[in-house]
Amino acid sequence: PKEGKVTQYEIVEWAINLMQQALHSGSAGELARTYFKGRNLSQDTIRKFRLGFHPEDWSWLLDKAKGRYSEKQLVSVGLAGERDNGRGFYDNLVGRIVFPIIDERGRPVAFGGRVLPGGNIESPAKYWNSPESSIFLKRRTLYAFDQAREKIRTDKAAVIVEGYMDCIACHQAGVTNAVATLGTALTEDHVKFLKRFDCRVVLVYDGDNAGIAAAERSIERFLAQDLDLRVLTLSDGQDPADYLDKHGTEEFQALIDGAPEAWEYKLQTLTGRHDIGSVSGQQQVLNEMLDFLAAAPGLAGGIREDLVIRHV
Ligand code: ATP
Ligand code: MN
Ligand code: MN
Ligand code: MN
Repeated sequence: PKEGKVTQYEIVEWAINLMQQALHSGSAGELARTYFKGRNLSQDTIRKFRLGFHPEDWSWLLDKAKGRYSEKQLVSVGLAGERDNGRGFYDNLVGRIVFPIIDERGRPVAFGGRVLPGGNIESPAKYWNSPESSIFLKRRTLYAFDQAREKIRTDKAAVIVEGYMDCIACHQAGVTNAVATLGTALTEDHVKFLKRFDCRVVLVYDGDNAGIAAAERSIERFLAQDLDLRVLTLSDGQDPADYLDKHGTEEFQALIDGAPEAWEYKLQTLTGRHDIGSVSGQQQVLNEMLDFLAAAPGLAGGIREDLVIRHV
């Protein structure tokens, strides 16, 4: 093995190419190709995001790496894991469709893998992400940022979604300023990074409990930061990919353009949660809202007046 000379980026790049080949050619990739078709992804989109497939073989990459990269090198970028007690190694992405993660400078750094419905590999977790490594920090990474950068600059707006498929569906629909967080709420690092682009940020999260909770956590992180934040969670448990399939780009873009500011979103969730027909319910909403605003130096007093006049 060319220990010492190879970079981690090179190993990730090597694996992306192999997994793209496995998706596009041969019978092993057939089910994955059918899956992507069923999710309405075009060939163009599949190529652009360099989507791939890892065949159902626990040493597929380890075998291909022989004489080129060591097992430890594959482990170092999350492609392989080591069995307990030194009893050898195994590939991590077995039987999954694969979403390469590219950093903001266009370098391949990690992978997300999704269970392939109808395949033979059972897994308790639908998604698996590479563990962090010296080239991959989850709290800093925004999926597809390198592809979204131009539009974020020109529109002065970024759309943040939760899932790989959501982000890809957005781009395919022309909403090319979309990025995704990787199984986390928005972090301080994400916020600091986005602030450099002086853009409005629109969170479009899943309308399920996880998405609603992540939206609330994200708002709190944003508030200390004086940044124009709009927040949406979709109705009926839908996520952006579902919504785009059902309603199309125009309606989706209209939702984004009309997304309420963070404080207003917060107020909506509170009024939905408490009985505002009662005085005690109104007091609860007001108290929680004042606590919330107190933590938000970026929000001017004008909003407080607006809040009181319009809603109380
Ligand atoms: P799909 O549409 O392919 O079924 P999804 O993207 O709608 O999947 P969700 O369950 O809504 O899946 O999760 C949203 C995102 O959160 C995923 O795309 C993934 O990035 C991340 N995620 C979900 N589950 C996990 C997990 N077990 N580990 C790491 N990340 C996860
Ligand atoms: Mn979800
Ligand atoms: Mn989905
Ligand atoms: Mn989802």
